[in-house]
Formats: sequence, structure tokens, C-alpha cells
Amino acid sequence: MSETASTPAYKIIDHTYDAVVVGAGGSGLRATMGIAESGLKTACITKVFPTRSHTVAAQGGIAASLGNMGPDHWTWHMFDTVKGSDWLGDQDAIEYMVREAPAAVYELEHAGVPFSRTGEGRIYQRPFGGMMQNMGEGPPAQRTCAAADRTGHAMLHALYQQSLKYDADFFIEYFALDLIMEDGECRGVIALCMDDGTIHRFRAHSVVLATGGYGRAYFSATSAHTCTGDGGGMVLRAGLPLQDLEFVQFHPTGIYGAGVLITEGARGEGGYLTNSEGERFMERYAPSAKDLASRDVVSRSMAMEIREGRGVGANKDHIHLHLDHIDPKVLAERLPGITESGKIFAGVDLTRQPLPVVPTVHYNMGGIPTNYHGEVVTLKDGNPDTVVPGLFAVGEAACVSVHGANRLGSNSLIDLVVFGRATGKRIAELVKPGTTHKPLAKGSEEFALTRLDHFRNAKGGTPTAQIRLEMQRTMQAHAAVFRTEEIMAEGVEKLGQVYASMSDIAVTDRSLIWNSDLVETLELDNLISQASVTIQGAINRKESRGAHAREDYPERDDANWMKHSLGWFEGWGGQGGTVTLGERPVHDYTLTDEVEYIKPKKRVY
Ligand SMILES: Cc1cc2nc3c(=O)[nH]c(=O)nc-3n(C[C@H](O)[C@H](O)[C@H](O)COP(=O)(O)OP(=O)(O)OC[C@H]3O[C@@H](n4cnc5c(N)ncnc54)[C@H](O)[C@@H]3O)c2cc1C
Repeated sequence: MSETASTPAYKIIDHTYDAVVVGAGGSGLRATMGIAESGLKTACITKVFPTRSHTVAAQGGIAASLGNMGPDHWTWHMFDTVKGSDWLGDQDAIEYMVREAPAAVYELEHAGVPFSRTGEGRIYQRPFGGMMQNMGEGPPAQRTCAAADRTGHAMLHALYQQSLKYDADFFIEYFALDLIMEDGECRGVIALCMDDGTIHRFRAHSVVLATGGYGRAYFSATSAHTCTGDGGGMVLRAGLPLQDLEFVQFHPTGIYGAGVLITEGARGEGGYLTNSEGERFMERYAPSAKDLASRDVVSRSMAMEIREGRGVGANKDHIHLHLDHIDPKVLAERLPGITESGKIFAGVDLTRQPLPVVPTVHYNMGGIPTNYHGEVVTLKDGNPDTVVPGLFAVGEAACVSVHGANRLGSNSLIDLVVFGRATGKRIAELVKPGTTHKPLAKGSEEFALTRLDHFRNAKGGTPTAQIRLEMQRTMQAHAAVFRTEEIMAEGVEKLGQVYASMSDIAVTDRSLIWNSDLVETLELDNLISQASVTIQGAINRKESRGAHAREDYPERDDANWMKHSLGWFEGWGGQGGTVTLGERPVHDYTLTDEVEYIKPKKRVY
């Protein structure tokens, strides 16, 4: 496609920076702040206003072994994270994260995050799932630092202010299109200013992708509509692999259609789930814990009911959550937010009606493979740790990998700041202020503009929204909680057809001023390549581990599968579409000899 079309005429504005960060969520802002603080000329490009990034929605908190509420130690946090990852996490990176976590939290405190406090004025910490004392032996560790139920919100505000203080330049409501790659090295990025349609070419020694997850590949996701994995899409188009995409975390209770999260606390207060026959089916799957079984068990049971035709609603594709038997006074007191969400997002009065819920995509464990310095790595000449010069990734977009097959709650926010900070430090080591820039090769904008122009003028018969919905429904039904060879093979077939239909896409708005039709099409193209790698990776992995639960291979198989998957995707816009899979060893060593490698054992809670 690219060879037949010549570069169309667009107004291009050139910029030169030492470092460019794409994304202004928790990870992008922490990286921006650190790089700018080191005196490098830094730009941060973001498609939404920084404080509207999805990080703003994080309520629960951020994990660090401060030990403010009882005994704790970084080795305990390390054990829990390794176990939570079902031994797919890289233990050198996990050691780095948990050791750096307390310092990263204190930095946030000094940057102005208004953490909740204990009576003595220390940072308040709450217990969270899977966080234990004494190398998993228990009791629970109170390790999750919180600013009430607005931790992410507080973090974004503090980090944005700090980045401005250190003089980083912000390009807000700019949509990054593609990387500028030259001989395997990243030289910059091309972006569209959504407000006036100008094209901006950023030349930089370092580019950091902090673009967040791709939850929106699924029909129901707790993440914002902007979580379309644009960084991952750019990486795939650059011919580089993504890692472990088959590991997608589901939360049992997202509001059907809206995806808004309903906390586990709803079931904690006595809420229960029913199918189309009004049956409390969890009693069959988990006779003792019932509706309060662990997240993956409940999600899998719900998916089973739906697959067997006992879902509720016109499409029989969701489940009812009952809170209507609970005293309205108790609801108002303990679950006021949920009561409000039910009203706004499902039009349901929880005191009288059941809430429609569905297992909902919550987090992508997989992403752009990096080492613990944030440097993007690829498999080259047999070396799986080959650094891609000039390219970095942080946050949910990246796969360091500290979460392995399953992330523990409150370990994402700490990942954002620890590795955002590490990346800043690495770039400050590699790039000295004033380092001269080589000229870019001729036509560095060509690929990005050809693709932009192709979609802008797409005159096919199928609207973007229709293709997106088909992709999302396919992923929800065929690469969800409940996985078998047969279901996924059908999904691969269907998704292939959905991808091919991208060649017939219709974009009706040809303008370049706030063209949301065009931007959503570019986002869909990013989503669908990652959806394809996700489902192919899932069908390939013949075991159950963490969030990847296969009915036909119910056990973890360390002998054959204790390894990361790599996935490449060829093409864009409905052309090509071939997924190639490879692998990388899991790092079975720690960073220092102050802690021993934690040997695999069965993961039971
Ligand atoms: C509802 C909810 C609650 C959560 N609660 C918790 C919690 O309590 N604790 C916890 O640890 N984790 C929690 N998580 C997970 C955690 O919040 C996320 O994983 C994390 O915030 C992601 O941060 P990020 O910096 O990677 O990306 P995001 O915050 O998603 O930001 C992405 C950024 O990239 C920019 N961007 C993307 N594409 C482009 C493009 N093409 N051009 C320019 N800019 C682009 C966006 O503008 C945005 O600034 C929660 C997640 C959700 C959805």
C-alpha cells in the first residue's frame, strides 16, 4: 500500500527535543518530570488533557512496603508479586520495583500528593488482595497507600504540576500517529494536532511510549474509551513484537454496556449473582465461598452461564447482580457510589432492581517488552534482550514484566512511578544536554502520512463504529475468561474477517479539525492488531496460568510454558494481518544476591 501512494501534502511543523514522552498518565508524567528535572529538553504529547488520562480513575491505591500500619518488608512484597504473577514475572524487575517502591511513594508525597494519614501523621495504608506478611504466610499486610478513594486523581495533579515546574513542554490534544524508525533505531514521532490539523514531526534522541492499555479491544472494559493501545499499535507497525498479550485481567462486575466498575465490596455487603432462571449459580461453582470466591473463579463461572445460554437480557449476554434485598439505609451508607453508578450507567434503582453486570476487562498484563530501565527490547540474532536504541516504554503500555500472568491490585500505580522514574534516570545517563541531532532521513513522515491520508479518504461501506463493535463482541465472546481451543479457533476466524473488513471502512468526515471519526478509525486500527495478537497468543498457550484460564488445559505447565510470548503483526488497515509468534525466557534470577530466586510452587490462596 505504501509503495503505490505518494506522500500527500500536509503542513508539517518540525520540533527538536532531547526526549519526547507520548502519554500523560501516571507513567508518562513521572517520566516527563524526571527527564525535565535532569535538564534535558523534554516534550510530552497527549491526546487527552493530562489530568483526564485513565490513571485519574484509580481509586484503591498504590503498593509500597512502608510498614506504617504493621510489619512489612520489600521481600514480602516481592514474594506476593511473584506469586500473583503465577511465576511469569521477571524477578529482577520485580525486585527493582518493590525495593524502589517506598522511595517512589515518598517522592510523590513530597511532590504534593495528599495521602490519607494515620493518627501519628504517617501515610495511611490499607490491605489489598494478595498482599501478605511473612513471604505469603500471612496475616494480610497493610501495604496499599491511598489518598482516600482518589489516589490516581491526586497523583496526576501533583505530577503535572511538577512537570510544568521543571519546564517540560506539553502538546495537549495531539494524537501521535507513528514512530520515526531508521535502521532499527527510534528517531522521533509524528503527531496530528487535533485542533487545527497540522502535522508535527518531533525529532528526539529518546521516545518514551506511555500510552496506557488497550482495554477497548473488548466490548466491556472498565478503562476509558481512550484506552486504545496506540503505543502498542505503533510498535507493531514498526515491525517490533509485543509480549504476553494473552494475559488480560477481568473483573467480575462491570456494568453491562458501560463497563463502569462495581467494587467487590458490593458482594462483600451481601450482593449475589443470578442467571436467566433466577438461580444463584455461584453455589454450584464455589459451594463455600459462593459469590465471594476469587475474581477469576467468579468471572469464569459467569462466562460459563452465558455460554450455556443462561445469560440475561435480549442477547442473553450478561448476569444480574442483586443488592435489592439489602436495607436501603445500608446501601446508602456503605455503597453510595455504586448506587449512583447504577442509576447513571444502567438506569437501575438498586434498592428495587438487579444490576446488569458482565466480567469486564480491567488491565493488560502484556505490552511493549522492556527491561527495568524502561528500554524497549526485541529478539534479534537469538538475543531476546536486544535494546531498541532510542525507544522506551512505561506504564500499562509496557510489559517489564512485573505482573506476569496476573497483576495484584495497587501494583499498577507503583509500576507507573517506579519505572517512569527509572526511565527518566536512564535517559539522563544516555543523553547529555546539548547533544547534537543527526538530520532525519528524507521521507521520515511518509509512512505516518500515507496511513493518515488513507483513512481520512476511506470511502468504503462499513462505518468505523460497526467494525469496532464486531471486534469488541468477538473478543468478548472468544478471548474472554473462558477459553477453549474450539471457541478461540472460531474467534480467530471471525476476527480475521473483521480485520479484512477494515479495507472497506467508511470515514465520512474529511476535515482535519476535530475529526473524531478519523481519530477513532486510527485508534481502531491500533486496537485490532493487538486484539489479533491477543487471541492468537491465547490459542497458542496450551496451559492455564494467572488470568489465562483454559478449560482444555486446566493446569499450569512450567516445563513447556514458563516463558513469555512474543507476537508480531504484519500490515494495517485491513491489509496483511498475519500474526507471527515467538518467545522469550522468563528471567529466573534476581537483581542482587540480597534475595533468592523465588521458586515456583502451586498458587493457592
Ligand atoms: C477504573 C480503574 C481503576 C483502577 N484502580 C487502580 C488502583 O486502585 N490501583 C492500581 O494500582 N491500579 C489501578 N488501575 C490500573 C491503573 O490505573 C492503570 O493501569 C494506570 O493508571 C495506567 O497508567 P498509564 O500511565 O500507563 O496510562 P493512562 O493513564 O491510561 O494514560 C495514557 C496516556 O497516553 C496518552 N495517549 C494514548 N494514546 C496516545 C496517542 N496516540 N497520542 C498521544 N497521546 C496518547 C493519553 O492521552 C494519556 O495521557 C485501575 C484502572 C481502572 C481502569
